[in-house]
Amino acid sequence: MSKYLRAFSVFVIAVFILNNSLLSAPSRYVQVKAKAGDAISKLLVKYKLPADDFYSEKFVELNENNLDKNNGLIKGKIYNLPIKILKMSPKGVATTLKTKNKEKVITVEDYNKLLEKIGLKPKGKGLKTELWIPLKQVQVQSEPVVTEIIAPKKKSYKKEILTDNSDEKSNEGLIDNENISEHKSSKKQKKSKIGKENLPKNGIYPIFGKELEKVIPISSALKGNIYYLISGHGGPDPGAIGNRSGHDLWEHEYAYDVILRLGRKIIENGGQVYFIVQDAEDGIRDGQYLIGNGSEKLLNGDSISEVQKIRLRQRTNLINNLVQKNKARAKSQQAVEIHLDSRITNERIDIFFYFKQGNDRGESLANTLQKVVKIKYDKNQPGRGYHGTVTTRNLFMLRETSLPFVFIELGNIKNPNDQYRFVDKNNRQAIGNWLCDGLIEAAKTQKSKLKKDLVKLKKITKKSNNQ
Ligand SMILES: [Zn+2]
Repeated sequence: MSKYLRAFSVFVIAVFILNNSLLSAPSRYVQVKAKAGDAISKLLVKYKLPADDFYSEKFVELNENNLDKNNGLIKGKIYNLPIKILKMSPKGVATTLKTKNKEKVITVEDYNKLLEKIGLKPKGKGLKTELWIPLKQVQVQSEPVVTEIIAPKKKSYKKEILTDNSDEKSNEGLIDNENISEHKSSKKQKKSKIGKENLPKNGIYPIFGKELEKVIPISSALKGNIYYLISGHGGPDPGAIGNRSGHDLWEHEYAYDVILRLGRKIIENGGQVYFIVQDAEDGIRDGQYLIGNGSEKLLNGDSISEVQKIRLRQRTNLINNLVQKNKARAKSQQAVEIHLDSRITNERIDIFFYFKQGNDRGESLANTLQKVVKIKYDKNQPGRGYHGTVTTRNLFMLRETSLPFVFIELGNIKNPNDQYRFVDKNNRQAIGNWLCDGLIEAAKTQKSKLKKDLVKLKKITKKSNNQ
């Protein structure tokens, strides 16, 4: 046998073995042993996957024989997660994934790094040895992604009573477990809600839900001003999770409800609003326990990335582009982002504010909002005291945008008293109202400052003319 022939046959055998091992190797998935209280959505969220229908259905498919009749998990059983394991190619992630799609490569790479960082992917199985791939990233393109919500129930909404009385002491004992908001949805609504910019038609804003979609103007105090409203987290990322009377409290759901209420108020007062994160399933909800399903999308209809860095970048890109686009016509443009903080201890914290260092108008906006919230607390709960702070913080959203931006934390989602600030619909409404009053106050200050500046300018011009 010639040298070449030998080399060739070795090559053929090698290719055969390689192909064969690829063909015969059964699909491997990341596995977990179910603990008491585990549920499909809980595991998905833990592994940083969206708890949406795609992943839930995949989970069911992969574990058909190990689920009870309600798709519940059985303690002690081993479950396949919808995360495929591939042996890492020495040539890197793109080769392993057999893709040239850069975004996909980054998404999968970051996903693996994230799981390593939070300790879910063992260090010994790092990127050099194996690659974990969320199933959505393995799907061939022609396969449709199912986003239908299973059996949505209709809920009739009580007429909204706008109260200014955020009273955290009262009603504490009245909380029952029945008052759970359900997803209201219809296909029609879903389509119409998430448009390119979600511009309303005839004062109809489907984003608020059927009962509240019509917004009737009550003042023009915010006319000409544009507000970018961001509810923290969403989509694959529920944010911090608290617990109350056996119910999980997802940060995003409460931030979203308050942001919607604030936005509606702004529109009532003549301002224009862009909701950066939108959920076609949920309008303004009155329940105490708002159920999350990870179905949020971005204002332009894009899915929210599973990777935090990309997730935040998506938002700042959207905002920056719109700010640029609206520059000429807007009297002012501002951003408000809402979160619920989570502390390791369950200390109480008052509503507090961050602004971007060096952004004077952002700082002044944050101070105005804080002042107004203080006035409201003092009025509604004399003697309570309110100690919400205004400070700077080097946060991505603040750093990567340049408009006046206030980042608000509403309280500690782990503290039972703070929780009451969010689980009571009247309190959520009051926070929305108060923040809107703060924005109106800020708009007034800005107007009078502009006037003063104009007077000053006139004086200076006069002076220099006289000289
Ligand atoms: Zn947060």
